[in-house]
Amino acid sequence: MGVSGVFLATNEVISSSGIAKPGMRAKLSRMSFAPLPDNLPLQKSRLLRRFEDLISPKTDAEFEALARESRMLTLQNFGRTMRLFAPLYVSNECVNSCRYCGFSRDNPILRVTLSLDQVIAEGRYLASEGFRQVLLVAGEHPKFVSRTYLADCVHALASDFSSISIEVGPMEAAEYAPIVEAGAEGLVVYQETYNREIYAEMHTSGPKRDFNWRLDCAERGYDAGFRRLGIGALFGLAAWEQEAVALAAHVEYLLKRCWQAQITVSLPRLRPAAGEFQPAFSMTDRELAQLICAFRISFPQVGIVLSTRERAALRDVLTSLGVTMMSAGSHTEPGGYTGQGASDLHRTVRGRIVAPAFQNGEGTLATGQFEISDERSAAEVATVLRRRGFEPVWKDWDPALLAT
Ligand code: SF4
Repeated sequence: MGVSGVFLATNEVISSSGIAKPGMRAKLSRMSFAPLPDNLPLQKSRLLRRFEDLISPKTDAEFEALARESRMLTLQNFGRTMRLFAPLYVSNECVNSCRYCGFSRDNPILRVTLSLDQVIAEGRYLASEGFRQVLLVAGEHPKFVSRTYLADCVHALASDFSSISIEVGPMEAAEYAPIVEAGAEGLVVYQETYNREIYAEMHTSGPKRDFNWRLDCAERGYDAGFRRLGIGALFGLAAWEQEAVALAAHVEYLLKRCWQAQITVSLPRLRPAAGEFQPAFSMTDRELAQLICAFRISFPQVGIVLSTRERAALRDVLTSLGVTMMSAGSHTEPGGYTGQGASDLHRTVRGRIVAPAFQNGEGTLATGQFEISDERSAAEVATVLRRRGFEPVWKDWDPALLAT
């Protein structure tokens, strides 16, 4: 099916209320976003054409008008609230070679997979800091990070957190089922780049080389029962404008195909990491701000996530523009919050596990995925948010309320 066919078919099965009619959901579940990025230069919906205009160069006055509209729509749809969450890295083992990532299998970094008790200790620390929303993150390594391991982690953390999401290697829908049953409600998977050629250059070995497998992951997660879906692109791998339009097309598609899920979008820019990859494409602070406005104006009800990759001063400004969800006080190394796993470290050299043999200047914790930029604690971030008129939300719903 060509791109227009997919859009037409998708629109036909959605009622005017935006709710899929009974009997039509099967048609939706047979669709796939995979053919769309290749045809985007030729076929764009009206919404995408407007989005493209919103991210085109603007004068200062035009940019101010965009910012005002974005701020107003954010207030209308989300109020003056900001959801706070923390990533909890459980493993930095990985079978993939991604040129931009510190966890890439070729990097001889210090690695560990936390035991269940160690994951619980990290979770308890985050809960004591106030967090009730956590994102479990791991490299892709089926031996160390199996679906059973992930389900056990989710189950063990369920009493401390009202919302648990995972960001791990893509799986089949059936493989996600036990993780959803254990209590996970969110699935995060970034395409990294929507440009197939650059994707092939960046992912030199491992299962992640399969572009379409990753692209359809959010849909498989939805079919497995995840009701929060997070997608994103890693800005710096390709021209930001092209990535942005493809990401917007993906959001537009998922809003229809996965109509019961809450969709969030992330716009991370590359940060320094082991392997010292240098981004080929830049994106200025102003371009990032404009992109946030474009997403808010085009998709008023979609959550926009901002990570600690960005520096504190910029994060404070971007919170007023359209961001609805922030990480805070983050560590990107497994065990980073409480020092868990320090006695179980090893290195992986060409796929072989060897002793850690600490080098000069190295700490005794596992290596992080990338350097964070905003190093403020969660409490400091919350204080700044309040000072700027926002209510930090550590927990946005309670399962007990839904059960009554
Ligand atoms: S980006 Fe993900 S899959 Fe690639 S090396 Fe890093 S952790 Fe592994």
